[in-house]
Amino acid sequence: MTAEIKIDTALERERDPVGAIQQQLRAAVERLTLPQTVYELLRLPMRAIKVAIPVHLEAGGYRLFEGWRVQHSDVLGPTKGGIRFHPAVSEQEVTALAMWMSYKTAANGLPLGGAKGGVRVDPRALSVRELEQLSRGYVRLLRNEMGPRRDIPAPDVNTDARIMGWMADEYMQLVGQSEPGFVTGKPLVLGGSPGRLEATGRGVVVTVREVLRARGQRLAGARVAVQGFGNAGRVAARRFAEAGARVVAVSDSRAAVYCEQGLAVPALIAHKQRTGSVGGFPGAEPIGQEELLTLEVEVLVPAALENAITEELAPRVRARVIAEAANGPTTAAADAILRQRDIWVIPDIVCNAGGVIVSYFEWVQNTTGYLWTARKVERLCEDKLVQTCAALLGCAEQLGLDLRQAAYTLAVERLAEGLRARGRLNEQGAPR
Ligand code: NAD
Repeated sequence: MTAEIKIDTALERERDPVGAIQQQLRAAVERLTLPQTVYELLRLPMRAIKVAIPVHLEAGGYRLFEGWRVQHSDVLGPTKGGIRFHPAVSEQEVTALAMWMSYKTAANGLPLGGAKGGVRVDPRALSVRELEQLSRGYVRLLRNEMGPRRDIPAPDVNTDARIMGWMADEYMQLVGQSEPGFVTGKPLVLGGSPGRLEATGRGVVVTVREVLRARGQRLAGARVAVQGFGNAGRVAARRFAEAGARVVAVSDSRAAVYCEQGLAVPALIAHKQRTGSVGGFPGAEPIGQEELLTLEVEVLVPAALENAITEELAPRVRARVIAEAANGPTTAAADAILRQRDIWVIPDIVCNAGGVIVSYFEWVQNTTGYLWTARKVERLCEDKLVQTCAALLGCAEQLGLDLRQAAYTLAVERLAEGLRARGRLNEQGAPR
């Protein structure tokens, strides 16, 4: 991993999430009057490993797939973070995702650090056997860098419980013992936690409810638009509808649909399962994917990929609240415009934290060998998010910050405390 990420053009600068995170870190360090060393120690990941994974193709021959595991900080505990399979994965993207994980675990008071993994691949172009080889190959090459007390992977975009099951099996075969805590988001039968699959989407709705309450508004009757209809977006949409909100628009990578009265979300989920897209859903009108982001709604939920809301789009956003179910969906320039326009953004490191909170519960269950009920998991996750939201709203109000600045303030304060408690800062704040 080289020191600074090189940036060539204004567009790349706008879309450089690592730079945006470093800016948030620097501002939080200054706000908290912490030693500059805290910034120096947290501005880059502690370790970044690149691998080339060979896959024996069914059509004959081998193909190498590039992959990464980036571990940002283990100050607060073993590093934790999902693995993404996507054609646009890069070291820079995985680095940003690893950094967000550190700030997420810190802001939510979890005893974990932050990491992320990714493989540059279009998984839809692989057969099941090729996908399994790729997943197992990733673990084989990184077995010494990951582990239940070291770095714990989980699902992310285009990876799921089945892939986590293959990865868990590969690791356990390599180390020759049962290690269910190696990975979270596993199938239930292998020690997965009840409620993990739904945790991110459910958590998004809890954080929106808490933030709307602070604004004197309610979920019931609120109009909601959701970009992305995968694990996070689909569950969030269903839970919004169950809570009495009106989910008026939804999109996926192929299409977007709108219905003024509110979409029938369970039927839409079944339609997507049947046809592969939300497009063509009976009773809904097709709209443009970008149009969805500028609809007049109370809540806009970007739940797809990074950089969905750009500097160019931000002046046209008409939502009152943006709930970042995805990681990094708002560029730094867009964020500044939304702040000026008094549009509240619930930052990713709080909004989508339900996933890592329940992953933490899964790891705790694996470590103790005792399985919790779905009710207990859901209740404890909700309690944790409500606590985080209260701290977030309190910090924002007290220091006159937006919610993202407040979330980084909470996270950096805890990371600095961890650095100090470990003796990594001396009295003057210099590293030792
Ligand atoms: P997923 O692969 O299940 O779903 C992604 C969805 O986004 C798909 O429906 C895809 O069609 C859609 N999409 C892609 N490009 C789009 C575009 N341009 N316009 C509209 N839709 C588009 O992934 P996921 O697990 O739901 O993750 C989504 C986001 O949430 C990612 O940023 C991820 O890092 C974040 N996240 C997920 C979890 C989790 O537990 N799954 C936890 C925390 C954060």
